[in-house]
Amino acid sequence: MTANSRCSAAEPPGLETQRREIESLLRECELCAGDSWYVVEHRWFDQWKEFVETGDQNSSSFPGQIDNTELFEDLDSYHVKERLVENEDFVLVPAEAWHKLLVWYGMVVGQPPLERKVVDLPSTLKVEVYPVEIFLCLHSNMDNVITAQFSRADNIQSIQRAMCQAFSVPPGSECRLWMKSSDSSCERLRNLHVSVLDACLSSGMTVIMETRNADGTWPSSRPQIMRNSVEEQDSYRGQSGVCGLTNLGNTCFMNSALQCLSNTPPLTEYFLQSSYLEELNFTNPLGMKGEIAEAYADVIKQMWSGRHYSVVPRVFKTKVGHFASQFLGYQQHDSQELLSFLLDGLHEDLNRVKNKEYIELRDAEGRPDQEVAEEAWRNHRRRNDSVIVDTFHGLFKSTLVCPECHKVSVTFDPFCYLSVPLPVSKERVMEVFYVSLDPYAKPVQHRVVVPKAGKVSDLCSALSEMTSVPPSQMVVADVFNHHFFKIYNSDESLSCILDRDDIFVYELSVQEEQQEEQVLLALYLRERSHYRDYGSGSSSYGTSLFGHPLLLGVPRSSCSQEALYDLFLQRLARYVRRPDPSEELEEEEEDDDEEELYKTQTNGISDDEQQEEAERVEPSQAQLSEDAPANSQSDATAKVDPLPELNHTQPSQDHKEATNGSGSQTELLNSAEANAANCTSDESLCGNPSSTADATSESPADQTPQPGQTAEEEREEDKQEEACSPSPLTIEQSTKRRACPKRRKSLFTIQAVNSNGTTERGMGEGGSAVSFSSQPYVAIDWDPDMKKRFYNENEAEKYDKHASMEVPQQQTTVQLQECIELFTTVETLEEENPWYCPVCKKHQLATKKLDLWSLPEVLIIHLKRFSYTKFTREKLDSIVDFPLRDLDFSSCLLRKKLSNGEPRSCYDLIAVSNHYGGLRDGHYTSYAKNKDNGQWYYFDDSKVTYAREPQIVTNAAYVLFYHRQDKIRKPTLPPPNTSPASSTPQPANETITSCKDDSAELGASSYVTMETD
Ligand SMILES: [Zn+2]
Repeated sequence: MTANSRCSAAEPPGLETQRREIESLLRECELCAGDSWYVVEHRWFDQWKEFVETGDQNSSSFPGQIDNTELFEDLDSYHVKERLVENEDFVLVPAEAWHKLLVWYGMVVGQPPLERKVVDLPSTLKVEVYPVEIFLCLHSNMDNVITAQFSRADNIQSIQRAMCQAFSVPPGSECRLWMKSSDSSCERLRNLHVSVLDACLSSGMTVIMETRNADGTWPSSRPQIMRNSVEEQDSYRGQSGVCGLTNLGNTCFMNSALQCLSNTPPLTEYFLQSSYLEELNFTNPLGMKGEIAEAYADVIKQMWSGRHYSVVPRVFKTKVGHFASQFLGYQQHDSQELLSFLLDGLHEDLNRVKNKEYIELRDAEGRPDQEVAEEAWRNHRRRNDSVIVDTFHGLFKSTLVCPECHKVSVTFDPFCYLSVPLPVSKERVMEVFYVSLDPYAKPVQHRVVVPKAGKVSDLCSALSEMTSVPPSQMVVADVFNHHFFKIYNSDESLSCILDRDDIFVYELSVQEEQQEEQVLLALYLRERSHYRDYGSGSSSYGTSLFGHPLLLGVPRSSCSQEALYDLFLQRLARYVRRPDPSEELEEEEEDDDEEELYKTQTNGISDDEQQEEAERVEPSQAQLSEDAPANSQSDATAKVDPLPELNHTQPSQDHKEATNGSGSQTELLNSAEANAANCTSDESLCGNPSSTADATSESPADQTPQPGQTAEEEREEDKQEEACSPSPLTIEQSTKRRACPKRRKSLFTIQAVNSNGTTERGMGEGGSAVSFSSQPYVAIDWDPDMKKRFYNENEAEKYDKHASMEVPQQQTTVQLQECIELFTTVETLEEENPWYCPVCKKHQLATKKLDLWSLPEVLIIHLKRFSYTKFTREKLDSIVDFPLRDLDFSSCLLRKKLSNGEPRSCYDLIAVSNHYGGLRDGHYTSYAKNKDNGQWYYFDDSKVTYAREPQIVTNAAYVLFYHRQDKIRKPTLPPPNTSPASSTPQPANETITSCKDDSAELGASSYVTMETD
């Protein structure tokens, strides 16, 4: 190996240096169009952070090779999973940081690095984690479809170029491109200079290319695929406003919000009557030069024209993306966020105030509420005057009290919607797997109710009631990718556990006072792969984890190699068959053993490194025989040291206190590793001290790098260690073999590993051998053929369901009124958001109370279902019981006296935006009442169906629109006859927008193309 390549696999710098270097790169690197950033799996990165922050080189928090497994759909295509969330599933690191990490840690063999470019999108720079993936085909052969990825910043021309190349279109051919959306609508891509983003091309769409015939004609006036996209029956006169909106790729959040606004009568009438034309504000620096208002007006006019089954809100979507980059991307968005942006954007675009004057806000200073409120509203109107203010703005009073000087500060603030909290349950339902001590019992899935703010011990107590096993005999662990991501301490907070984590609770054997101490052993299963040619001098194997890991308490006396082997066989008896005497497995070739032994020494690093290492090590092997006896002794010495105490904390947390003892643990496991292949050894791993104690010449603990050592010295020692350790054992072993000729071959070998299941080799090449801080992890390694014969995969995966799983989770129902009361409940400000007390002249955690003062004509109530706290993110799925009629706010209003002729604050429901699904994925729809005929409809993107009132209140309701009764006009049309032939009134689910006879065909393609060819 050349010196150069040895350098490239550079020894990583110290942990503190690593942390500093990467952190400063993350902090200082700015997004710059065209630059590369890299996607790194969040868990790996977290583990790395923990390692460099709390670990030492030997810590078991060593993250191992960069592993993005969790980000891929599968490991064949390496297709990246959809809807991954930044800082939750992955982190983005700039190229320089990536290359450092890659050099220090390497990457799991076979995984492609996830390089992504920064793209320059309107009003923002963004790392494009998901390029747009579209299908390409020729009109002449639409069966031959290829997939290609493009950046949103690419233009249409680059697609055309790629297609010409992919389909070998003769140069100089004249081409036309068409894009087909998921709902089969087709549009010509005329402008080749427009970007993929602006053309609204999104993943899953197809681009079809046709080339002009030699006679100058086009193959078809419209591609075949467009037969469904006939200009929609121009004659179609449906109910105005009853019109779907085509999904343009994850845009259901936008469609849902648009339908609610479209069914807000005062706003829609304002646009339909074109009143907005006179009020467009092109100069407002806070606005969008009227563009949002115009694009919105276009959509509304089309929806209410009665000519369309469904409208494609393409221009509108593009405009929204231009002005609010957060809505550009690929992720799920929030209909409420869009609504908030849109109301604000429309307001500024339509603000009648052209020059906003500066108005100093005055504190109440003891003046009567009425006076302060009127002043505040007047001031608000002097700067903000638009149809949005007229329709949606109300006023609330906010009272802050300083906890120290008791200064009371009163202000009146306008609002555009009310965000009301949902009562949060103090309890939490968790689903966990319980693994009993009984080796023949399958894991049992339980559903337990625990306090949300509880500790891990509360989970054990809850489980204890179902299993009758005392909580003290349980250990809770997060299992991830066949290994323990984390083993919890009983006093850790349950908020560390996310709902999506796979939590296993293991029963441990009873530990009585007099009994000797137990070691908590984490056991992983691994399968060998990638055999290397023995001739290469580096016969090593790679391993992959499989199956479920186990936690077991092992009495110290049972820690001999032999005893562990038997113990594991016992523990795995449900799915690992013991060989019966007739098929006693004997060693076939003596070499096998040697090979195996050597393997254990070089495992856990990538092939290339191994190769390199093997070559590097070779020269020093000459000294093997000399060093052998001493090393042999020192290995034996290792076995005398006490085992770590039963301790199931997370490695990182107690690494400091464990530092003292780490030497001995290292030795123990070091020897366990060395002995792994040697099943005939009778020596206990923690046997009798007297037998070997004084033979020590050099403790392996001394071989671990000392802080003062230079890298060079470490390397030197490593060489020796690597070169020497296999040898003595080989000698020892062959002696033994001679002594007992008939060897039983084991089903598996036992190997010390680190917490993520790789054989610990310290950092890259430079570290020491095995290292543990407190928690021993071992793996049993299987040859694939042995695994096939003795390991019953089917049985291993089985589990039972406890009766608690059958009990339906009870749905909690709260009243809307409770939510509104919560909104007005006194709260104490949080640390992150203190109040500056003008009297104390410093920030104070004041108490804050909100009260409703005046309410708008259309009241939007946002139910805060998405709860984000420092530790938990959850969607609350309680049913909020809200009235469809007569929502009376009179009693909630602070202002008791109504001026003459002022209407009561009594509201009827007019629209609901629904969210189905969880935090990360989901679907938005809406219910809305048509202002003209008084009928409720259900809008699901391009599909519209009749809805009945009892359907409307569900746990999906997310944003509610209420109209004040005095402003509601009577429907001008009779309600539609929703039960045509039969007498049973079953209007719901009847698709309206796909009318006509051939409903099946049209149902799938009920759309309108906004372009005619
Ligand atoms: Zn104060």
